[in-house]
Amino acid sequence: MNLEHIQKIIEEAGHIRVSATREEYETAEYLVRECEAMSIPARIEAFPVPVTEIHEAHLWADGTEIPCTGYELCGSGTVEAPLVYLPAVDAVGLTKVKDRIVLLDTRITTFDYQDMLDAGALGFITYDGDVKWPDRDIDLKELRSFTALGRKVLCVNVNAKDAVELVKALPVVKISIEQTESEGASHNVIAEIPGKTDEWIILSAHYDSRPTSPGVYDNLTGCIGILSILEELKKTAPNRYGIRACFVGSEERGLLGSKAYVRDHEQELAKAVLNINIDMIGAIMGRLVGACSCEQSAVELIRAYALEQGVSIRVMQRTMSSDSSAFADKGVPAISFGKMAPHSQAVIHCRYDTKDVVSAKQIQEDAAFITGFASRLANAAVLPISRKIPDNIKKSLDEYFFRVRKSEQA
Ligand SMILES: [Zn+2]
Repeated sequence: MNLEHIQKIIEEAGHIRVSATREEYETAEYLVRECEAMSIPARIEAFPVPVTEIHEAHLWADGTEIPCTGYELCGSGTVEAPLVYLPAVDAVGLTKVKDRIVLLDTRITTFDYQDMLDAGALGFITYDGDVKWPDRDIDLKELRSFTALGRKVLCVNVNAKDAVELVKALPVVKISIEQTESEGASHNVIAEIPGKTDEWIILSAHYDSRPTSPGVYDNLTGCIGILSILEELKKTAPNRYGIRACFVGSEERGLLGSKAYVRDHEQELAKAVLNINIDMIGAIMGRLVGACSCEQSAVELIRAYALEQGVSIRVMQRTMSSDSSAFADKGVPAISFGKMAPHSQAVIHCRYDTKDVVSAKQIQEDAAFITGFASRLANAAVLPISRKIPDNIKKSLDEYFFRVRKSEQA
């Protein structure tokens, strides 16, 4: 894709695109138009997602109000208790949470949440942002259904600067939230280039963003990457394999779009030979990574290709916290590409994920590498990656989707 086109997409779509909002839907329509402009048919598929209207959310520390956002889907009501700070949800930590509201350094995950409730925790405070950043933004979070498992307690999110003060003071805190829940819709965009066989390679990239983030790096760049692959593969169509591109909504809420896709298209997945996912490329600094949720030979394949192309990339056999995991979990070998920028250069899920941290030239270069790789596979006489998910990847997926606890690490 030429630089002007990349720049144009960044200018036109590099804005906040939150799950189930008008902005997300308009971006879906935008991606359809981008595909149609290349004479590639595309359609929008809706899937249901829970939506929330937060009427009020308050946090008081010894009577002083602290700015916060209430977690969506955590219920309504009021709770008051002394605060405890838990740097780790381990055996020691769990002895300290009874009848306390708990402040955590991490996001709230399924087993930790259930363990803390079992141990008597009454509510949770999380934080994000950075004590060194000038803003006081507070991300809007949700208590995911696969975390709550039907047990809701009040949770709020605060800015990192206030979290520090809360830990210093360990006050009695009071949380009060009023919200209503209903069902909304988010959308996937599906574009197809038929091949010579009835088997498909699925390309994927999420296009939604977090509530405070313009989401240029995460993950408008991935969408541009997929559009770039489509542009090239359209020129050589029909390729041996058909190409189905999924621009996925609601990834930031726990892969809701790709989970909906694999659920709604379960039958067709038997004909899906590979998923190539892109989550974040084009950062001005940083190194490409490839995560192969498939057999080890894919790692060697990418390494060899990168050597030929003179591209430095770190490739591993592992799962990625992105839509590739939804496909791998349904038995589709998946490879996720991304470019990890140094934290000092580019951060995500906040207001600083803007066009300033990426360059059209770097997006073009990263996309060209992935396009070359995808193009080879799309025209391979025999796909050099077998349709098999190895046991170590299955185990990692079980952990990622909270079906089993992570094995104890030292
Ligand atoms: Zn992402």
